[in-house]
Amino acid sequence: MENTKKYSVTVIIPTYNEEGSLEELYRQLTAMLEGSASAHELIFVDDGSADSSLQIIKRLRESDRRVKVISFSRNYGKSPALDEGFKAAKGEIVVTIDADLQDNPDEIPAMIAKLDEGYDLISGWKRNRQDPITKTWPSKLFNFTTSVASGIKLHDFNCGLKVYRREVVKRVHIHGELHRFIPVLAGWEGFRIGEMKVSHFERQFGKSKYGAKRLLNGMFDLMTVMFITRRSTTPLHLFGRIAFLFFAGGGLINLYFLVQWIMGKGLHVRPVMVLGLIMLVIAIQIGSIGLLAELYSSTMKKTFSFREYEIDDQ
Ligand code: UDP
Ligand code: MG
Repeated sequence: MENTKKYSVTVIIPTYNEEGSLEELYRQLTAMLEGSASAHELIFVDDGSADSSLQIIKRLRESDRRVKVISFSRNYGKSPALDEGFKAAKGEIVVTIDADLQDNPDEIPAMIAKLDEGYDLISGWKRNRQDPITKTWPSKLFNFTTSVASGIKLHDFNCGLKVYRREVVKRVHIHGELHRFIPVLAGWEGFRIGEMKVSHFERQFGKSKYGAKRLLNGMFDLMTVMFITRRSTTPLHLFGRIAFLFFAGGGLINLYFLVQWIMGKGLHVRPVMVLGLIMLVIAIQIGSIGLLAELYSSTMKKTFSFREYEIDDQ
C-alpha cells in the first residue's frame, strides 16, 4: 500500500489443532506485512492443541523472532486465547485472524486503511460465507438478534478477521465465549465500529471447532453482554422495576381480599389469592437480587475510557 500511513502491526492468531494451515498462513501474513507495515509481530496463541501446532509455531519462531508464542496448558477457548493475545500486543494496530486459512490476509491493508477514515475497529463481513448451512442459518439469526438488541449495525459480528486500534484491545476484555460480542463491548465503550466485506474460503485442513449448538449459548451470552453493558452500574434500576411490577400486582390482589374481609364477607382461599401471594414473594426475591447486585457493583473497581485527559500544569 503506497501513499497510506504505515503502522506497526500485531497479528493475533488463536490456534487450536490447526497444524495443516500454520506454515502457509505464516508465509501469507509475513509477505503481506513486510510490504505494508512499518514493523510487525505474529502472536500465535496455541489454545492447548493436541496435534503438532505448537511444535510448528516454535519452529517458525526459531527462524523468525517476530513470531511470538503463547501456549495454554489446556484448551480454554477462543475468547481467552484472544484476550491473552490482546494483553501481549505491542503494535499500534492489532489484527485478529483465524488460523484455518478461511480468511484472506491480503485484505488486511485495506482494512487498516479504512481505520483512517475515522474508525477504531473494522470488522470483516463474510459476505459469501463458505460453511455448511447448519452454521450459516443459525449465524444469520444470531447476527440479526445481536444487531437489534445492541444497536450496533453489523452484518457479521463473529468474523475472525478484525482490525483494531491498540486502545480498543487494551480496553475490552473478553472471557467465556464473548469474542462474538467484541464489537458490542467496544461500541459500548465509545469506540467507532466499521465493517468491510471480506472473502471467505472453505476450510481445507482440520475440523471446525464450533457447531450449531453454539446458537443457544450465543443467546445466553447476548443477555450477559446486554446486562454488563447497560446495567452494570445500576442493577437495581432493572431488578427494582420488575420487582415493583410484581409487588404492585400482588399488593392490589391482596388489598382486594383485605377489603372483603373488613367488610365481613369472610375469606376463602381462591386461585387468584394464591397468585397474589406468590407475586409478593417473587417481588421480594427479585428486589433482593437487585440489592445484592448493587452491593457487588459498589465493590467493583470501575474504570472509564477517555477521549482526552489533560490535567497536568505545564
Ligand atoms: N479456536 C481456538 N480455541 C478453540 C476453538 C477455536 O483457538 O477452543 C480457534 C481455531 O483454531 C480457529 C478459530 O478459533 O483459528 C476459529 O475456529 P473455527 O475455524 O473452528 O470456527 P468456525 O470458522 O468454524 O466458526
Ligand atoms: Mg474457521
